[in-house]
Amino acid sequence: MSKKISLLGSTGSIGTQALDVVRKHHEAYDVVALTAGHNIDLLAKQIIEFEPKVAVLKKHEDAQHLTRMLATSKTRILYGDHGLETAVSMPETELVLNALVGSRGLTPSYLALKNGKDLALANKESLVSGGMLMTKLAAQNGKQIIPVDSEHSAIFQCLNGEDKKEVKRVILTASGGPFRTWNRESINRATLEDALNHPNWSMGQKITIDSATMMNKGLEIIEAAWLFDLTNDQIDVLIHPQSIVHSMVEFHDTSVLAQMGLPDMRVPIQYALSWPKRLKNQWNSLDLLSIGALTFESPNVEKFPCLRLAREALCVGKTLPCVMNAANDFLVEAFLQRRIGVYQISDYIEQVMHQHMPFEYMELEELIEVENWTRSMLKSFF
Ligand code: NAD
Ligand code: MG
Repeated sequence: MSKKISLLGSTGSIGTQALDVVRKHHEAYDVVALTAGHNIDLLAKQIIEFEPKVAVLKKHEDAQHLTRMLATSKTRILYGDHGLETAVSMPETELVLNALVGSRGLTPSYLALKNGKDLALANKESLVSGGMLMTKLAAQNGKQIIPVDSEHSAIFQCLNGEDKKEVKRVILTASGGPFRTWNRESINRATLEDALNHPNWSMGQKITIDSATMMNKGLEIIEAAWLFDLTNDQIDVLIHPQSIVHSMVEFHDTSVLAQMGLPDMRVPIQYALSWPKRLKNQWNSLDLLSIGALTFESPNVEKFPCLRLAREALCVGKTLPCVMNAANDFLVEAFLQRRIGVYQISDYIEQVMHQHMPFEYMELEELIEVENWTRSMLKSFF
């Protein structure tokens, strides 16, 4: 029996790599829904190849255009929030792979779990903002959140068959991004092109900027806390420029397990789709001799204040991570539009975090209100 998957964000970096995995294992998977933002041409090609029941675009006019392009197709073309809701709640869907970017992923993650689907999660932002809600829903419905992020997939794999109570700490590795060897003054003058020039991974623009500011690792600290039920003190970060050790777990007996591999996101994507099994593939094997040396450095919090802000958000908890994440989304967009510089991202996040009164939330709507409040505050700053 093939596993039925709804893939959100199918035209993005993770989405296209996920379809590459499905293409190689077409007997194992059946894609029942594909969703994209604006990329009509690529979505049209994906519909012809994978023949999903439903395909979703962001805008009504794009959906009308696609319907005309694919006049003979059996795929139902939908749009907007309602379309995304359909894609995650279809009765046949067993697994939702959320590869949307940013705050856009929050409601679909929530609805997938609420509708009793397993959730393969690339969209770490939804766990950062609504971790309490997501983990509660997953537990209530007996569903699994399976990490796609390479570090969290590494930890998830190291914990296979282990008792979570035996975990002393996890060590998240980080490539260090394009500014690892730059000083603060140079980073302050960095251009958009400098920030987009990631040394090891080719990814969507938002996460590439997050890697440059190291907010990506900040988000991943909070993601790890929710996925593996850890406190801030149990999550360490190590810079590892080769990106071969994807992360590590230390147990109470001081034994450390690491998961290694070449930096290729198809590996954790495939594991999230095939879990709890593994599938064969033809990708290159890790050759440690050609890599030569694995090196480690401690992260520089002075140079990368986002790491400090993320730990503060995690320790305070409540709605503060949601504010931090929504602010980061908004400010990365402003940076991509060349409206602000690198350090204005962390400066403005810090300002808006300190103007927020964190509260215990119970509902998705409260998080959406907090996100709206964050955006309106930031609009008043610049
Ligand atoms: P991307 O920008 O390449 O792709 C995002 C996808 O979401 C695209 O299909 C786009 O069309 C769709 N989308 C964007 N805005 C939308 C909207 N408003 N409505 C509907 N659809 C919309 O992003 P990515 O790099 O693939 O990252 C996706 C997620 O995976 C992020 O949360 C990121 O942090 C995480 N992630 C990515 C990588 C990677 O290697 N790219 C690694 C680890 C984690
Ligand atoms: Mg990662």
